[in-house]
Amino acid sequence: MEDCLFCKIVAGEIPGDIVLETEHTVAFRDLNAQAPTHVLVVPRDHYANAAELAAADPAVSAELVTAAAAVAAEAGYDDYRLVYNTGTGVGQSVFHTHLHLLAGRPMTWPPG
Ligand code: 5GP
Ligand code: ZN
Repeated sequence: MEDCLFCKIVAGEIPGDIVLETEHTVAFRDLNAQAPTHVLVVPRDHYANAAELAAADPAVSAELVTAAAAVAAEAGYDDYRLVYNTGTGVGQSVFHTHLHLLAGRPMTWPPG
């Protein structure tokens, strides 16, 4: 999709600090990390949010989770948090499906 930041990172048109690539996903470090490990896992194809991806392609939706788990394991973390923001009201700012992987510090619940 034109003018989508994460499509451009997937395509290599703008740089991303990529930590893992799988057949249908790319994982790269968040530019504004909120934890020692903060990685975004995105599908190569463009969907606006997690539900759109899950409805269109459940296998790739699952691949995002397994890719995130692999990144956490590679970084040595058994404990980690996975987050999807959906909608501006809860903080979604990029409208290309992305799974946040956060790890490496204590976290509270509920989130803010
Ligand atoms: P959202 O707020 O939509 O759930 O998450 C978007 C994330 O993308 C934010 O955590 C933000 O820091 C990150 N981000 C925004 N622009 C860039 C960028 O150009 N490169 C990378 N790697 N991350 C970005
Ligand atoms: Zn996109």
